[in-house]
Amino acid sequence: MNMYADVLVEIKAKQVDKTFTYKIPTSMQTKIQVGVLVVVPFATRKVEGYVLKIHEETPEFEAKEIISVKNDEPVLTEELINLGYFLKSETLCSLSSCISTMLPKALKAKEGVTINKKYISYLTLVNSNGNFNSKQQLIIDLFKKQQEILKKDAYLISESSTKTLIKNGNIKEIKKEAYRYQLQTSKLDSPKNLNPTQKQAIKKISSYFNTSKTILLHGITGSGKTEVYMNLISQVIAQNKTALVLVPEISLTPQLIARFNQRFKNQIAVLHSHLSDGERFDEWRKITNGLCKIVIGARSAVFAPLNNIGIIILDEEHSDSYKQENKPKYHARKIAIKRSEYHQCPVILGSATPCLDSMARALKKRYEYVLMDKRASGGTLPLITLVDMSEEAKNKHFILSRELEYKIIERLNNQEQIVLLLNRRGHSTIITCANCGFTYRCPFCDITLTYHKTNKHLRCHYCGYTKYLDDNCPNCHEKSLNYYGLGTEKLEEYLNEVFPTAKIIRMDKDSTNNKGEYERIINEFHEGKYDILLGTQMVSKGLDFPKVSLVGIINADNSLNIPEYKSNERSFALLTQASGRAGRANIKGEVIIQSFNIMHPILKCVVNHNYRAYFNYEMKIRKTLKYPPFYYLAQLKLKSQDINLVTKEAGKMKSYLEKNLSKESIVLGPSYANPFLVNKTYCYEILIKYRLDNQLIPTLTELDNIYTIMPKIELDIDLSY
Ligand code: ADP
Ligand code: ZN
Repeated sequence: MNMYADVLVEIKAKQVDKTFTYKIPTSMQTKIQVGVLVVVPFATRKVEGYVLKIHEETPEFEAKEIISVKNDEPVLTEELINLGYFLKSETLCSLSSCISTMLPKALKAKEGVTINKKYISYLTLVNSNGNFNSKQQLIIDLFKKQQEILKKDAYLISESSTKTLIKNGNIKEIKKEAYRYQLQTSKLDSPKNLNPTQKQAIKKISSYFNTSKTILLHGITGSGKTEVYMNLISQVIAQNKTALVLVPEISLTPQLIARFNQRFKNQIAVLHSHLSDGERFDEWRKITNGLCKIVIGARSAVFAPLNNIGIIILDEEHSDSYKQENKPKYHARKIAIKRSEYHQCPVILGSATPCLDSMARALKKRYEYVLMDKRASGGTLPLITLVDMSEEAKNKHFILSRELEYKIIERLNNQEQIVLLLNRRGHSTIITCANCGFTYRCPFCDITLTYHKTNKHLRCHYCGYTKYLDDNCPNCHEKSLNYYGLGTEKLEEYLNEVFPTAKIIRMDKDSTNNKGEYERIINEFHEGKYDILLGTQMVSKGLDFPKVSLVGIINADNSLNIPEYKSNERSFALLTQASGRAGRANIKGEVIIQSFNIMHPILKCVVNHNYRAYFNYEMKIRKTLKYPPFYYLAQLKLKSQDINLVTKEAGKMKSYLEKNLSKESIVLGPSYANPFLVNKTYCYEILIKYRLDNQLIPTLTELDNIYTIMPKIELDIDLSY
């Protein structure tokens, strides 16, 4: 009987984003299953593709034969294939880009990379009789204790004797798959005696095992959510099921992984962006081979090929890192909920600062709501004080207020630790000439260049353009450049001046570029090698340092002033999370927030630890302005290097949308994106606010088709903006 396979071929052109039917040669019929990678003829080429379906229907046109199978084991399960179709419908991206985004590089079709499995050689005993010399006898004797020994151990005794024994058939070599990534183990982390709040949370959540309920676990910073997760996971594993744990990239700290690894030894696979392609491939195979029960990873781990999932956890569910900013622009929360429906398992959304959308759903009873409002250590939340920087500036205190400076000295004297947050990297953000007014700007973007003093370079934070900085102004050649704007490098410099005996460490994208550097800083700060940790939002999340008693937020206005509808939401989360680093163990914590805008309602809510007040305030604004969660938003970005073309097309797109969408939908723009020019490319933005609009998807799909074909212009659609 003839068998056929529907194959999704990997070709970049969007017009071929569909499956083609190929005949399965009889010789391959046992090898080819749904989800395997195959090589097929396509036009005059050989291309790779995924088998999405196997059937016996004779196709209309004569089908060509599959050339070969690339991997014996499927790279996709039925569930992942369906998830690919779901992702396509959620993002309007091609199926092949959706499938490709789910897989590690080594398993993607047509990447031109071959990443091999790693094998380790062992020896087993076949026949212990013979005339052996002393070294050969030593090797034979090794098998008295073990059935298998490492080949390299036998080589340590004698390589030539080992080879002779193999040649004579006394011992045999076998190869076993090896997994490159090694988890570090660390100090013992024993299960805690759960407190009543934790017990209650666990009881409520576990009553939803085997259902696809979404549960919002709202637990204040330090309330002991991780302990709750681990307890739930133990229960799930006892039921012989698996667990998927997602955390923001930045919280995938050695601290967290070590805690899990202690508790669930050898049952964990870890997926994050610091793995090499080989390590990632191995972790992925560990999962498909059923060798681990728990997957911990960042956003894309939501696609981990686990079977029989019993619980999905999204820690810090409010984090922006769950949204992929490249195509396909998906949100991991939605994918997690979709998977929970397939596996009939609960999804736990954990956060101290739930996103507005999740909280609104919890209040509407769409999600179950569980609150943990006490710190696990028994301590209290830190005391937060706002400092008015416009007053401080009058007294020439531009960087540190008198109050923060005083408190830092106090902590240094007590040998307690300090965390300082400044959400801007580099040294100075604006370099201008006092003589002629010249300002350094990026030649490709509509933005000023940031000065990075460490290597004396100016850098564009949008396109990466760099330039060596001269001491003289390039325009008037006077030595009169001024450095304005405060970045982490300048703060570090200043701190070293003011506190010369303190040990200070900076953590930002620049200081953690080298592999292992991030881990080193965290570990050494934890061990007490430093007094002050300063950095960007990297210092605000997921870290648990018992000796930190003071957190300083250098400029709270940085995040509040970003012109984006989510800036209040982001600021509240950032400031609350950063504050939450203080006083986690038994020392009382304190927080100083510096701002030029101390009357801002969001700051008031942060100071009072009042999530509900913040929620109500922000919901009112969102309702008035018709933003999520009251309306859905779609963001359309039209980009081109040709400013005339993109300006004209943006206007046309707007009228097309207004003509085709429902009258209830609101089309805003086109407006300049912020920034308008990035990497020589101009970008306009159109926002669509909608509720129920049957015309939306067909209209956007049509637009997408138009601009896919049109040269020199690109349309970016974001349906989960
Ligand atoms: P969260 O993730 O909610 O911010 P963590 O899970 O990191 O909080 O817990 C905060 C601290 O409290 C950790 O140091 C943890 O070891 C500790 N902790 C958690 N549960 C308990 C408990 N039941 N008793 C004592 N300490 C606990
Ligand atoms: Zn640039």
